[in-house]
Amino acid sequence: MPGRDAEGGNRVTVCQACGTDNPEGTTYCQQCATRLDAGTQQRVLERRAAHSALGIRWPAVMAAIVLALIITIVVLFVLGVL
Ligand SMILES: [Zn+2]
Repeated sequence: MPGRDAEGGNRVTVCQACGTDNPEGTTYCQQCATRLDAGTQQRVLERRAAHSALGIRWPAVMAAIVLALIITIVVLFVLGVL
């Protein structure tokens, strides 16, 4: 799926000391070895958590509800209630 990142897809952590793009999850800048901003890392993790909660679990919950409704209707139909 196309990313929402304006940088062109690859998620990076930008070093605040020298401006080098470091791969996501890098703790120290690959150019100047400055410790990368912890807040930036945390935001990436939060976004991931939100994505997994809304993007992966919701369809599964909806599918389970729809499946339960279909089974209920079929059972009622078989029993001759409807
Ligand atoms: Zn740097």
